[in-house]
Amino acid sequence: MAGSLSVDVFNSGYKPIPGAPGWDEGAPATWPATTSTLISGERDGLLVDALITRSEALRLARWVEGSGKRLRAVLVTHGHADHFFGAGPVLDAFPGAELLACDQQVVDEAARQATPQGMTNWRSWFPEQLPESPAVPALFGSGELDLEGRPVLFRSIGAADGALATIVHLPEQQTVCAGDIAYNNVHMWLWRSTPNSREAWLASVDALAALEPSRIITGHKDPDAPDDDASRVLDQSRRYIEDFSRTVARSGRPREVFDAMLARYPDFGNPYTLFLAASSQFPS
Ligand SMILES: [Zn+2]
Repeated sequence: MAGSLSVDVFNSGYKPIPGAPGWDEGAPATWPATTSTLISGERDGLLVDALITRSEALRLARWVEGSGKRLRAVLVTHGHADHFFGAGPVLDAFPGAELLACDQQVVDEAARQATPQGMTNWRSWFPEQLPESPAVPALFGSGELDLEGRPVLFRSIGAADGALATIVHLPEQQTVCAGDIAYNNVHMWLWRSTPNSREAWLASVDALAALEPSRIITGHKDPDAPDDDASRVLDQSRRYIEDFSRTVARSGRPREVFDAMLARYPDFGNPYTLFLAASSQFPS
């Protein structure tokens, strides 16, 4: 019987966003630090998510090569570009590996993000930094992969940060790669969220909790976060969404929401995410 699976996490760190409109807080506006997770047995590996810019994608590919594992697939948790546009260099390094999603909605969303219009939008965030034509995931028809005799489950959960969220679950390790359902010490992407969408996101957090994981690797994680403890990550994600809803309900303008949430979560990474989320709640 093969040994248990290993889980290793690559963290991109924060990326500057040049010329972020409306942002004037001293420190440059940034994109949230993003993870890519290598799940591996003795020989083979699976990668969960694949970042976005060319330079971080190259670093990711070298990191996976350095593991000495033979990569079989890159599993995409949801169709947002910051989790799969960077797959190219990894796929080039492992020609046998496939780029996969477990739900047609993820495939469709990813395809939309990679259209010329979607690319124009993403290039406005990361000028000159994106691949020319990102690969789009294919639908993986089964909810389970076998990695050297160990089960890896790939499941749809529900709504989260504006796209259908799926997860990769290692039941024997009580570990979940949760994509953007939960965040770890990073402000959550609540841009254009509504009371209904936030309720739907909270239901996904509950569905994640029902799996009773002990470790959750979040799609966005502060590089200095203390651990991947599931109860801490679930509690903070739930509380953050609830606090945001309450704060919006009693505030009259974005600045009040920004200041109140920043005071409550002073150590969270990427305050620019909070700035955008607060600004989106009071359309002028
Ligand atoms: Zn994301």
